[in-house]
Amino acid sequence: RVDLAGRIANVFGAGLHETVVQAVSDIDLAIGEGEVVGLVGESGCGKSTLGRMVAGILEPSDGAIRYRGVALEAMTSAQKRAWALGVQMIFQDPFASLNPRLRVGETIGEAPVVHGLVDKGQAADYVAELMRRVGLDPAYARRYPHQFSGGQRQRIGIARALAVKPAFLVCDEATAALDVSIQAQVLNLFMELRQSLGLTYLFVSHNLAVVEHLSDRVAIMYLGRIVEIAPTEALFDAPNHPYTQALLSEVPKLEARRRAYRPIEGELPSPIDPPPGCAFHPRCPHAGARCRTERPALRAIAPGRLSACHLNDG
Ligand code: SF4
Ligand code: MG
Repeated sequence: RVDLAGRIANVFGAGLHETVVQAVSDIDLAIGEGEVVGLVGESGCGKSTLGRMVAGILEPSDGAIRYRGVALEAMTSAQKRAWALGVQMIFQDPFASLNPRLRVGETIGEAPVVHGLVDKGQAADYVAELMRRVGLDPAYARRYPHQFSGGQRQRIGIARALAVKPAFLVCDEATAALDVSIQAQVLNLFMELRQSLGLTYLFVSHNLAVVEHLSDRVAIMYLGRIVEIAPTEALFDAPNHPYTQALLSEVPKLEARRRAYRPIEGELPSPIDPPPGCAFHPRCPHAGARCRTERPALRAIAPGRLSACHLNDG
């Protein structure tokens, strides 16, 4: 059975070891068990980096990541392993992450056997059950990745992730490469799995409509920082941060809610050299003198709502 005790809390103060660019910083995000959190921002805002940190693929250079209440640096090897298995990542391009020379049944069955979650003799049955669970005919286990469509490959990727009995899936633009109708089917599968397995999700996406449909809460990122966090309905009904407002103004489906929000102007600045003060100030219609020098902190503006904008100081 899937262990439902998973919890990731407090990803903050994160930068990268390998690169000079600080992709994300001053992040403080707690995701509760069973929750679906959408993480939204323009390409290059650091949302994929943050997703990879949550999944343990990237380590922050400072700050802390806690899983089930234990900080990364305090984890025993057993706790690290539980984290590595408990949080699985689903990528945009499943084909790139599937070994072309392995039958998909082998790909799905490999990790659970290696980690001793299932006996080798039971692997075929186990794989068949997983394939049924994600809507694939188990007879396809003998086929190779190139024999599947994009949507089927994403289902294979999901089955492979589920094979190690995770509590938490980080989905990074997981449906962005799929046709709209297939996209909807895969999103429905994610929601079914949430119900049947009690999964927790972090949905990293540039697509606000997808995020609105799936998420309990939404975090908005801009140039490596979270600028707003709110319950989904509150965020879409009354976005607080000017950047969130600008993002919403660009979603055609949300026409009725556009109101007076203006779309985003200007180019996304380089994350290597973000503007001082509020990083959004060069594009913000409300920017004042303070915005150019003082960085607004992400702070509570209402129960369950956080925003990083000086306008909230009155
Ligand atoms: Fe705009 Fe200033 Fe708020 Fe930044 S702090 S979003 S520049 S009003
Ligand atoms: Mg990305």
